[in-house]
Amino acid sequence: MDSYDIVIVGGGIAGASLGARLVPDAKVLIIEAEDLCGRHATGRSAAFWQASLGGDTPERRLTLASRRFFDARWPGSETPLLRTRGAVHLTHAGAESFEDLGDLADDFMPTHLDRAALDRLIPGLRDQWTGAWFEGSCADIEVAAFHHACLAAVRRGGGIVRTDAELLRARESDGRWMVETSAGGAIARILVNAAGAWGEQVATRCGVAGLGLVAKRRTVVQLRIGRTGLKDLPFVTDLHESFYFKGEGDHAVWVCPLDETPVEPCDAAPEEIDVATAIDRFEKAVDWPVEAVERKWAGLRTFAPDRHMKFGFDPDSPQFFWCVGQGGMGIQTAPAASLLCASLIRGGGLPEELTGIDARDFAVVR
Ligand SMILES: Cc1cc2nc3c(=O)[nH]c(=O)nc-3n(C[C@H](O)[C@H](O)[C@H](O)COP(=O)(O)OP(=O)(O)OC[C@H]3O[C@@H](n4cnc5c(N)ncnc54)[C@H](O)[C@@H]3O)c2cc1C
Repeated sequence: MDSYDIVIVGGGIAGASLGARLVPDAKVLIIEAEDLCGRHATGRSAAFWQASLGGDTPERRLTLASRRFFDARWPGSETPLLRTRGAVHLTHAGAESFEDLGDLADDFMPTHLDRAALDRLIPGLRDQWTGAWFEGSCADIEVAAFHHACLAAVRRGGGIVRTDAELLRARESDGRWMVETSAGGAIARILVNAAGAWGEQVATRCGVAGLGLVAKRRTVVQLRIGRTGLKDLPFVTDLHESFYFKGEGDHAVWVCPLDETPVEPCDAAPEEIDVATAIDRFEKAVDWPVEAVERKWAGLRTFAPDRHMKFGFDPDSPQFFWCVGQGGMGIQTAPAASLLCASLIRGGGLPEELTGIDARDFAVVR
């Protein structure tokens, strides 16, 4: 049986980015249950980076710390990983102030637009919108390129990415994990749980108590629209947080009704009610004619009970490392989150790039 320093369960962005951080000084194996890495949450995201997302939380500090890595194309992408789009947060009477901005730096602070300015930016908005907050730094993330670059970095660094390899069972004894997968066994000193929606199941299969992670379904619908010029429009959302949409190509938009339905971990599929809600909210926001539903999909966003990401060794099983609970921000936080996790695994302090981030905010507690 091959022996590794670290086995990472899950080849989504959490496992892939952590693997890329660890390979320079550890022998790493990533095991992925599917035939391809990225079939689940990572391959189904709406692919944006947004500083204001989630409010004034420790996760925002990861988002901001990640921006520099994205701008520098970490971990070696040939193409830029971000494309600036800007975001518009629509306001209406009774919901006009942008709360929870905390101490966002000026570069990221939204600026106010009155209705006339808003009309110049997004023609066809319904009458109820009184104005908006414009967040110029919001960007599309090239998720596939980013994920691919992480997996390539793992392989380049001598790590192994094994697909069609579901973790079935693992037991720790004498400081070694004996790992059993559908593609054979492995031995490792540290086992990392980066299994997204399956985080609880993987813990159980390793004989470790769960954290109460819950997977929540979220739907995205691609609509063909009877107008052009949508490609470069800002990402549009409302301060009530009932929908968002962004242009996809010149005649289409991606619309999300911000659904959050708890489900068992699975290959998530959209429910008709969520598709209908997405279309309804979109049509109440703008007067653009909806011609067809071109595509629809759903993915799972996974949360710990306190909705904070969980990064760290298990208090009762010190060679079991949790990298879970990324919720709806796992892509935009991955560059910094992976550095944080790699630093915790190696031991010692946090590097300069993580100044202002406190690992205790993500501590694993039951
Ligand atoms: C609709 C939607 C929109 C989103 N939009 C954004 C966005 O705009 N920006 C953003 O930052 N985030 C967004 N997110 C969130 C983001 O997609 C997730 O936080 C992130 O992808 C989580 O990555 P992960 O690697 O933890 O999970 P996953 O990508 O789900 O990877 C976990 C992997 O573990 C594997 N696995 C499970 N069990 C086992 C096992 N026993 N053995 C081996 N492998 C196993 C699975 O097959 C899976 O590939 C969105 C999510 C959804 C659903």
